[in-house]
Amino acid sequence: MEKKLNIIIMGPPGAGKGTQSELIVKKFGVKHLSSGDMFREAISNKTPIGLEAKSYIDKGLLVPDSVTINLVKEAISKCGKQGYLLDGFPRTLIQAEALAEFTKESPITSVINIEADDSKLVERIVSRRVCPHCGASYNLISKKPLVDGICDNCHTKLVQRADDTEESLKTRLKAYHSMTQPLVEYYSKQGLLHSIDGLQNISVVFDEISKILEGK
Ligand code: ADP
Ligand code: ADP
Ligand code: ZN
Repeated sequence: MEKKLNIIIMGPPGAGKGTQSELIVKKFGVKHLSSGDMFREAISNKTPIGLEAKSYIDKGLLVPDSVTINLVKEAISKCGKQGYLLDGFPRTLIQAEALAEFTKESPITSVINIEADDSKLVERIVSRRVCPHCGASYNLISKKPLVDGICDNCHTKLVQRADDTEESLKTRLKAYHSMTQPLVEYYSKQGLLHSIDGLQNISVVFDEISKILEGK
């Protein structure tokens, strides 16, 4: 039997995690578990978790660890024998330690770290448009949909995320550098980390990721 792939994709906001996740899922058949998508769905359904998360997300702040950990733990438990791709989780050392604890029986197999300089991320974030239905990510400059303003996959009208402003990005980058970047060293020490230059073309980034995952 092929080995189960339990992947983490990490990187600053706008690095291309969502874009690459879509391609990885298609090629490797893993389940996409995006904590950001989970929160956005909870917000649009006005669930208690959604209402709590919204107050943080709107400000560009991280949602508290306890809330986030429970949400992702439940999603992982539903994967059963299917491998998964964690996109946007873990984002703190406490989340990473909790993840290691509840995946003891079937641990993480690789961590893909997409690198991109802060200065390049502003343009990407302000020109990002997303599909509120399937979560696909587009860009007014680098990844236009086939029909203006419409999702290629499900034909839903594209929207701009409420937190995709320059102001919120500043706060999110600060949170990334102080809370999430330490995970690079954490996973590197475990021999799981693969860093990739996220400023290359989408297809070049994906080729590099594919090679890493095929080598596993
Ligand atoms: P981006 O694609 O810009 O990196 P995400 O869609 O992953 O952003 O996340 C959007 C927001 O949701 C984050 O700014 C944060 O407020 C919240 N969030 C997502 N994942 C986590 C997490 N693991 N821990 C805490 N907050 C999170
Ligand atoms: P993240 O999930 O890490 O926040 P996204 O995958 O949503 O990032 O990408 C952020 C924006 O940049 C989107 O508008 C996306 O279409 C665009 N984008 C993603 N990867 C690249 C790339 N390699 N080159 C140029 N633009 C990209
Ligand atoms: Zn869609």
